Amino acid sequence: MPYRTDHVGSLLRPERLLVAREAFKAGRLPLEELRAVEDECILEVFQRQKDIGLEVFSDGEFRRQSYTTDQYEAIEGFAPEYPKAPSTRPDGTVVTVQMHTKPVVGKLRQLRRLTEHESSFLLAHAPRPFKVTMPTPVRVPGSQPNIPAPYASLAEINEDITAIFRDEMVALADEGVTYLQLDKVPTRFVDPEAREAMRAQGLDPDAEFAAEVALENQCYDAARREGVTFAMHFCRGSRTWWQGGAGAYDAIAEQAFGELHADRFLLEYDTERAGGFEPLRFVPKGKSVHLGLVSTKNGALEDEGDLLRRIDEASKHVDLDQIGIGPQCGFQGASERDGAHMTMDEQWRKLELIVDTARKVWG
Ligand SMILES: [Zn+2]
Repeated sequence: MPYRTDHVGSLLRPERLLVAREAFKAGRLPLEELRAVEDECILEVFQRQKDIGLEVFSDGEFRRQSYTTDQYEAIEGFAPEYPKAPSTRPDGTVVTVQMHTKPVVGKLRQLRRLTEHESSFLLAHAPRPFKVTMPTPVRVPGSQPNIPAPYASLAEINEDITAIFRDEMVALADEGVTYLQLDKVPTRFVDPEAREAMRAQGLDPDAEFAAEVALENQCYDAARREGVTFAMHFCRGSRTWWQGGAGAYDAIAEQAFGELHADRFLLEYDTERAGGFEPLRFVPKGKSVHLGLVSTKNGALEDEGDLLRRIDEASKHVDLDQIGIGPQCGFQGASERDGAHMTMDEQWRKLELIVDTARKVWG
């Protein structure tokens, strides 16, 4: 039976964790002491998630600076600094934002495992089942201004990165992790303007999407084990503005749900920009969909009646038994001191609402 209640992964960081990470970055706190604070905070959120009655646990991604893993420390060959780029807000003002991804600048060499420092603690202490999330390998280089030696193409870079992520997924499945989630950014494939821009460059959006799916399937296929759930989160950002273009899932639904070898799709559905539920008709039997009906972009608690109505609406397009609910994205901005969009209490109330609503629908 698919999970009914699931959150995407990251939770708001407690103040003492933010303070500890800052001290560590400034060289005032040794790594072991940061780890000790992380451990304490993670044990607290295990308990909180258990009390609320969530079905899938996470460590809140408390050991991460952002939603990505520590891949840029674990793999040699990326630029030392995160690039910055101008971004236009809806009101027309231009701000400089730091990218979440770094370009590749040379041969990629893995120095250590990507998530072992997270999974070892989860395996020892987390209630079951718990998830480990990773970005899809194809988005790891972000925008690549040029192709550095020894690579001849972006495809070659992606092959190397995918091999590293594939091996990480295999290691996690072998260790006994039963829920593995990749996070994919579908913006340029769902946004009609972005699709047009791709065509103008002589690229076929469907073929580009298929190339990503093929690499992601390498990860799922290699790690496939009995009893392991493989998920894909379609991430459109958790900020209120600038991140994530508009566009319904219609443009990619048939390909994504039909061809990705994931068992579960975690989709944004908290605002109009994601479109309607019609594309859910392409979710095959045996696979499940997580409707991200609760927003992590603001602290206002959703209305339970609205959630029930939306689940009912979705069930006209995909079997009710294939549906679960949760937030549309991680509680992000979570990792940035001024980035949180709500208080800790508002976060937990949203998660409680999800569990209460699911009990009304599925018992
Ligand atoms: Zn997301």
